[in-house]
Amino acid sequence: MIRAAVVGAGLAGLRVADRLARAGAEVRVFEKARGVGGRMSTRRSDFGAFDHGAQYFTARDPRFRTQVEAWVEAGKAAHWPGRVVRLAEGRVLAEEACVDRFVGVPRMNAVVRDLLGSIEAELGVRIEAIRRGEQGYTLHCDAGFEFAGFDLVVVAVPPAQALPLVASSETLRAAIAGVEMWPCHATMLGFESPVEVAFDGALVESDAIAWIARNDSKAERGKAACWVVHSRAAWSERHVDLETAEIGRQIEAEFARVVGVALPPVAFRATHRWLYARPVRPLDGATLFDAEAGIGVCGDWTRGDTVEDAFLSAEALADAILPRFGLG
Ligand SMILES: Cc1cc2nc3c(=O)[nH]c(=O)nc-3n(C[C@H](O)[C@H](O)[C@H](O)COP(=O)(O)OP(=O)(O)OC[C@H]3O[C@@H](n4cnc5c(N)ncnc54)[C@H](O)[C@@H]3O)c2cc1C
Repeated sequence: MIRAAVVGAGLAGLRVADRLARAGAEVRVFEKARGVGGRMSTRRSDFGAFDHGAQYFTARDPRFRTQVEAWVEAGKAAHWPGRVVRLAEGRVLAEEACVDRFVGVPRMNAVVRDLLGSIEAELGVRIEAIRRGEQGYTLHCDAGFEFAGFDLVVVAVPPAQALPLVASSETLRAAIAGVEMWPCHATMLGFESPVEVAFDGALVESDAIAWIARNDSKAERGKAACWVVHSRAAWSERHVDLETAEIGRQIEAEFARVVGVALPPVAFRATHRWLYARPVRPLDGATLFDAEAGIGVCGDWTRGDTVEDAFLSAEALADAILPRFGLG
């Protein structure tokens, strides 16, 4: 049986893991965080839940559309009918185009958990090096122990984190080197009562803020008045080393200015820093698979910057791996 290791339990990693497992491989997933989902994640608090990474996803490609329809059917995803506008200084400038937007339910990572199914996953394990020897690949983790005997490795993490893991493939190293990601601060604000504005999400014209969304307008999020505020990439880069508590204070003040209404008292505030949020310039979509070495890389940044791109990059990599290993 082919033994496969997948590093990274975001959507891309788990879609490849799912395809390999269905095709008959023995798959083991390694994830540094305590849960799966990666940038499709939700912060739970005593006040309420906040999707602090991806806000929603769209499905334009027929393959992703089919997957999204299956998730909706299974109750893992739902349509988000939120009103999305362009906003400047408290004024709605325009309506955003009406497209089908979806969210995971009850949390954004529900769809990623669905792909994990019964696949074995090592959570809280950061892979620091991957070495190739006579017995296949060995994964070395931060706690000092190792996992050996893999025929095939998939690296599904952002480029800066992927680079040290593909040392065994000169081709992959050359393809990945130089791909940069913007940081983003996600500030979560909970209010004692609803913020009286007539939209659910807004692209904001502000130096500090790019996007705001009323989290409780999404399915099964509860009734607490929870807002997520994403900083503009260049602003986050300028403030990347500032304490998150101070970021939160500055963003709350700017939020008050851009929505332009009197705000209810703030009952909850937290800021999460995504160091690798969105690619500055994604790659062109070529499949990153070193067939001779049996190692591949995938992730949104190999072709774009969305949830759908993460899924499609995984599809392309799985399509390349399966025939090479006689799977499926
Ligand atoms: C703030 C923000 C807002 C966004 N908004 C949207 C949106 O509205 N719509 C949209 O479509 N997309 C959005 N995106 C992008 C979307 O979240 C991503 O495209 C998608 O989730 C990427 O999935 P992935 O599997 O490629 O990577 P990730 O989700 O980043 O998964 C990589 C995983 O690898 C793990 N990992 C990294 N290094 C290691 C290691 N050494 N060992 C073990 N594990 C490791 C990480 O912990 C992570 O779980 C947003 C992203 C951010 C950050």
